[in-house]
Amino acid sequence: MKKFAFMLLLMLFVLILPEHGQAAAGNNQIFLDGKELTAGQEVPVENVNSSIMVPLRMIAENLGYKVGWNQTSKTVTIEQQGKTVKLIVDQTTASVDDKTVILTNAPLNRSGTTLVPIRFISEQFGLTVSWDNTQKIVNLITPETGGNNTGSDSGASDGGTSVDVPPAETTNNLTMVNGISFNENRLTIAMEGNAVPKVSKVSGPDRIVVDLPNATFSDLFGTGQVLDPNLNGSLSVTDYPDVSGVRYSLYSTDPYTVRFVIDLKTPKNYSVDISGDTSKLVVIDLNAVSTGDTATQPGNSGRKLIVLDAGHGAKDSGAIGVTKKYEKNFNLAVVLKAAELLKKESNIDVVLTRSDDTFLELKDRAAMANNLHADLFISVHANSSASPAATGSETYYQRASSKALASVMHKYLVQATGLSDRGVRYGNFHVIRETTMPAVLLEVGYLSNKGDESLLFSEALQNRVAAGIVSGIKEYLGLK
Ligand SMILES: [Zn+2]
Repeated sequence: MKKFAFMLLLMLFVLILPEHGQAAAGNNQIFLDGKELTAGQEVPVENVNSSIMVPLRMIAENLGYKVGWNQTSKTVTIEQQGKTVKLIVDQTTASVDDKTVILTNAPLNRSGTTLVPIRFISEQFGLTVSWDNTQKIVNLITPETGGNNTGSDSGASDGGTSVDVPPAETTNNLTMVNGISFNENRLTIAMEGNAVPKVSKVSGPDRIVVDLPNATFSDLFGTGQVLDPNLNGSLSVTDYPDVSGVRYSLYSTDPYTVRFVIDLKTPKNYSVDISGDTSKLVVIDLNAVSTGDTATQPGNSGRKLIVLDAGHGAKDSGAIGVTKKYEKNFNLAVVLKAAELLKKESNIDVVLTRSDDTFLELKDRAAMANNLHADLFISVHANSSASPAATGSETYYQRASSKALASVMHKYLVQATGLSDRGVRYGNFHVIRETTMPAVLLEVGYLSNKGDESLLFSEALQNRVAAGIVSGIKEYLGLK
């Protein structure tokens, strides 16, 4: 499963760096308390959308933070003084302790080296960050240590991006907004708390207004996004035919209300999705075809529509097995068999994202299911690991609303393969993230394992998995 790398257009340094928007191969220098830091290897510091990205090793070696790297999940963990920041390569969703935050720029991989946004990380650990645009220098200043100053904000910073946020203790159970992004015609709001967004369409001029009652911006918000001293800000939105901008503000303090406005060029419908438990993501999706806030109706006359997705295809072979068998062929074989079985079901319609060896972008797979208003989306894959011993079946979900489907599908998957049960897991895969119905991704087995590979390419196993998929779908939908 290849990750879909997505980039945000919001600008970290927008307040202080005028020519934002270009990715420049930088001659950027970084100074820590006046002493220049070096990247220390072939991979240079990069300036991506005005966010300075530095090799992870630079953080570990110069700042002395404890840095961890998980190759499987592509997760960077940075720990210092009891605070833990987790970032994932190619993903703009990160976490600070247990809070979800949205990064301006996702960590990158450059020839095996991970680059991370220096400003975000520095600020999380209390460093002061400033940018000298003339000389292209990032200045990091460590907080005073040894004194009795605990480092709590004394306000009055002249850094230009520092913002006084109403202190949490004066407010009861406020929902905290940690970050926002606009990407692929979706506004995503990361928040903590139970505020239920009120979303409405307004005309003259056309816009969508999202009010979060009993909510304010968290301290984290100002590090990822622009927030002026009056707690107003906006995202730079370009290249969207229907959207001219996104604004946000602390609209009211009595009662506390955070307002987001999506400015439109033409009236647009939308759907609203909320996922997560304490850390929540609210997604206002303008790709919705259905009318406004009415829920998508299932297919005609109670029939259910299932989209089956055979991973990869054509030039994208997916994983390559120990005896050089291609994942794309396994995926397609299972999906075709499952589709044959589903066609015999009187209450089920089935659509395949591909029924032969063709290539499709991930976004087209998700869009197909969304546009059809499918009831379920099931993507079939086979795994690969650097460790030849790795074996077993996994089922992935991304949104909370897909978890129940994942549990049911996984039960039948493990039964069908007889391989070791590697569990139902969270996975931030594009096709199960960007679809709007319950969606799962099955990793049937490991092609990097000799036993799994030969099993996966056996007719009998493929028939069992196909039948298991059908059983799972029927159980989930309550069909006999
Ligand atoms: Zn795959």
